[in-house]
Amino acid sequence: MPPSAAIRHLRDYVAIPSVNPMGRDDIAAEITGEARYANHVLEQLRRLHIDAELVGAPDRPSVVGTVRAADAVDTVMVASHLDTVPVDTMEIDPFDPRVAEGRLYGRGSCDTKGGMAALVAALERVLSRGRLRRNVIVVGEADEELGSRGVNDVLAHLGGPGADWVLATEPTELRIVTHHKGIAVAELEAVGKACHSSDPGAGHNAIVELSRAVLALSDLARALEQRRDPKLGAGTLSVGVVSGGQAPNIVPDRARLWMDRRLLPDEDEKQVRGEIEEALAKAGIDAVHVARCRVEKPPLGTAPDALPVRACERALGAAGLRAELGTVAFGTDAGLFELAGAPSVVMGPGSIARAHTAREYVEVDQVDDMTDFFVALLEDAR
Ligand SMILES: [Zn+2]
Repeated sequence: MPPSAAIRHLRDYVAIPSVNPMGRDDIAAEITGEARYANHVLEQLRRLHIDAELVGAPDRPSVVGTVRAADAVDTVMVASHLDTVPVDTMEIDPFDPRVAEGRLYGRGSCDTKGGMAALVAALERVLSRGRLRRNVIVVGEADEELGSRGVNDVLAHLGGPGADWVLATEPTELRIVTHHKGIAVAELEAVGKACHSSDPGAGHNAIVELSRAVLALSDLARALEQRRDPKLGAGTLSVGVVSGGQAPNIVPDRARLWMDRRLLPDEDEKQVRGEIEEALAKAGIDAVHVARCRVEKPPLGTAPDALPVRACERALGAAGLRAELGTVAFGTDAGLFELAGAPSVVMGPGSIARAHTAREYVEVDQVDDMTDFFVALLEDAR
């Protein structure tokens, strides 16, 4: 059987590198940034007579396209991030899409170019038969894997979500995901006083102070286990990076740590910062302060009877597929769209267990099922 339009698109997408540099400077310029892939999708949308443009920085653009139905039931935004994680650890050629045993291999095949491929193939089908029943905002956003600058560019461009609801494609094996935790990152700084190590008492060791803070944070992490969300379990706290000091014979005056905090739906930046400061105060640590605390991805909490869930359930049914609700452990851009005012869900082909891996792949059947789902959704089939 020849490959479907979605699979042909997906092969083209995988062959176009769009690696998120993730703050590194050692990745070849030929494979970093979303510009090549964004331009490819832009051309595809324009060929479908969809009003589309690039927004954001020229080297890290997002694509936004809008198509209106004559007799629309609502406006849906479908957002499929353009970037992939780096490819250093891959055991297959990341940009040479191969199909074998019902799987399409390559970086981004699963996370999350399969979602965009299914959407574009569905738009081709629906528009060619003139059956569009929903206004659609097609978004390919940059920088999902690190800072979500693409979502912010898109929201600034549109002046808000501009949609009644949002579907963000991520690998959920076609489950409708209504809840996930958010992600906050905090940086703590210890300030001491430098001196010669032969007389440590003359200084104040910032690394020692930071170590005390690490222990206070691990107490806080244990306390978080007591506060549980019925769907998502407990929030978490993990110290990921520590740095400090210049030489063994210098008492260090500066040390830092970076920590990751996974948030439950009712937790925000103010609360996270407040809890850290309280933990430090309780341990009597005054040489360490929170230098930065930022929610990178807000949590997602959409009611099971909300508009996006009902619309997706109906479309899955109309496409002959099983509708199943779920939660995921990872953060997505859907939380940002929800925070901006549009109820949101996450859904897409492939398994998160294959994302970011050395042999990333997506099941061909799931991409084709997602296409059928999008066709039913956009035609509002009953
Ligand atoms: Zn993703």
